[in-house]
Amino acid sequence: MTSCSLKPSQPPVVSLVGCSNSGKTTFLEKLVRLLKTRGYLVGTVKHHRGEFAFDIAGKDTWRHARAGADRVALATPTGFGLVRRLASELSLPEIINYMSGVDIVLLEGFKQGPQPKIELVRSEISQQPVCTPDELLAVVSDLPLQLGIPCFGLEDIAGVADMIEARFIKGAHEAVSRSLSRQQKKRYHRNIMLPGVGEQGQLKLLQSSALVVGAGGLGSPIAYYLAAAGIGRLGLADADTVDFSNLQRQILHTNLDVGRLKVASARDKLTAVNPDIRVEIYPERISQDNVAALVNRYDIVVDATDNLDSRYLLNRACLEAGKPFIYGGVLSLVGQVLTVLPGRGPCFRCIFRQPPAGKAVKSTAEVGILGAVAGIIGSIQATEAVKYLLNQGDLLVGRLLTLDALSMTFLEVAVQRDTACPDCGCLG
Ligand SMILES: [Zn+2]
Repeated sequence: MTSCSLKPSQPPVVSLVGCSNSGKTTFLEKLVRLLKTRGYLVGTVKHHRGEFAFDIAGKDTWRHARAGADRVALATPTGFGLVRRLASELSLPEIINYMSGVDIVLLEGFKQGPQPKIELVRSEISQQPVCTPDELLAVVSDLPLQLGIPCFGLEDIAGVADMIEARFIKGAHEAVSRSLSRQQKKRYHRNIMLPGVGEQGQLKLLQSSALVVGAGGLGSPIAYYLAAAGIGRLGLADADTVDFSNLQRQILHTNLDVGRLKVASARDKLTAVNPDIRVEIYPERISQDNVAALVNRYDIVVDATDNLDSRYLLNRACLEAGKPFIYGGVLSLVGQVLTVLPGRGPCFRCIFRQPPAGKAVKSTAEVGILGAVAGIIGSIQATEAVKYLLNQGDLLVGRLLTLDALSMTFLEVAVQRDTACPDCGCLG
């Protein structure tokens, strides 16, 4: 078997060789799409022997971009297209440097340098792979090949993606986070300058994860700022689709997104802002069945829901899992924020013991909401999340912060733990 000779700080590189151009491109497009739906950042490089102009718009490399590849480049023996047209020679490290920040680089038809190769074989071209066995990671073929190496059918995209994922990507994620790349130092420079952050703090953020529940009015500023700050793994849960009436405040979405799942629309925007992070999406409504599993996957949970049931569920699940929960609520021109740290202060239920009866709870659909107010409250929640992850400053624990935007006054109310609270009363 071949072994991966890449340095740990580099993204895994897999080359697809053999077969005709169209066959490889089609296979690669499907692979890119699948890896993207699994939340990975994917780069592709198309290799040509001719001039850059050979890669005309609408074909080949452009198809990789259309399939969702985060970085796309064209390489020839005399240069590296779309990056540096006059380069004298092309090397694998050059490509990897350009592709920094992505999880995996798929090279189409690229034979130079040591990288694991997947060969596509079609019966009309060859009965045998052209790669040497020691550099061959897998063969994709409908032929009955007996090579002692993994063999996948031409349509078994999921099988190839599973192999790449298991073999390279998971380990790479851990390795990438040991030091900042040159590009990361530039991207996060103004974070790094802040007191108490530095490169170590930025690394900590990149190693952190946050779940944002709701991709609407509050979820938009929260997710945008957490993504931009470089929270390495961002989960987004929301079952809704984008409606025209959302666009007045839910700034993650645009006219073009109406009818799409909010989490899918959100992921496009967030990875465009920062391809350095991984966005995991859950087109689900929070329920008793899924809440514990979701909460357990993340370091911190940020509330951007629009209903009390979800909030109570999240509050309790976070207490049980020992995870911080940042409550935020907005309605009309008022908003509230509270940070809940299990065992250290009051929880959401301590303060709002019972859901108000009947129709006492108004919704934004009934009384309206100013988008900018959601922006303010969501930004405060994002700030609390980053502070918690960096272990900096004073959090809003036991301090319910309320905003009245009409008079533009903030009020801080000290709130106490309720020892008889059904959710946190038994915690130490
Ligand atoms: Zn409580």
